[in-house]
Amino acid sequence: MQIHCRYCAAEIPPENINLDNLVAKCSSCNAVFSIAGELRMAEGEKPKKSQRQSVPMPKYVQVEETPGELKITRKWFSLLQVPLVFFAVVWNGFMLFWYSIAISTGQGQMALCGTLHLAVGLFLIYTVATNFVNSTLITANAEQLDIQHGPIPAMGNKTLTAVDIVQVYCKQTIHRGKNSTSVTYEVLAIMNDQRRETLLNGLYNAEQALYIEQELERFLGIENRQVPGEMGTY
Ligand SMILES: [Zn+2]
Repeated sequence: MQIHCRYCAAEIPPENINLDNLVAKCSSCNAVFSIAGELRMAEGEKPKKSQRQSVPMPKYVQVEETPGELKITRKWFSLLQVPLVFFAVVWNGFMLFWYSIAISTGQGQMALCGTLHLAVGLFLIYTVATNFVNSTLITANAEQLDIQHGPIPAMGNKTLTAVDIVQVYCKQTIHRGKNSTSVTYEVLAIMNDQRRETLLNGLYNAEQALYIEQELERFLGIENRQVPGEMGTY
């Protein structure tokens, strides 16, 4: 059975198909999508309208639906970020030590030297704190799609006009560091005018991204709406 990208129709090589969580990744456009529906159809099941509703609710995501409104809450917490706590403690412990010497001995130059490291230390504290405290609230209704991060202020709050959203899709980003490679997922919206709007980014888990995509598409009724230029069979 051949799987094609839902967004650009490129053929998906077998090594990009994860049969454990039924997720495929396109190497030409980086889109990530669930293939549970395709597999069920291959097994002879009749396609249903709800066929793509196959991603189960993942950890740290909650959905609340009332008539006319969908609220998705996603906690930022990831176990992958926990080791950063120790790193932040060690780093900032050292900064405290550095500045206590600089201040007690009145060495302005020593204090100045440390400012870049101090900024890194503060950024580490911010990152660690948002991992434990922050969540994103996505509110969708007939008029708009609203995205708010908090309670610690963060970039990326936005409000989009619901009817201008043509499609929601997920993308994988690979970050190559010196010694390690990490993968994050984004949820994006394609707007009427072909503009791409990032809804969420920095997700460590494909299921979270795919589940949020699925719920938004279902609620906004854009499950089968085609993107102009899209060649997929969907
Ligand atoms: Zn593709």
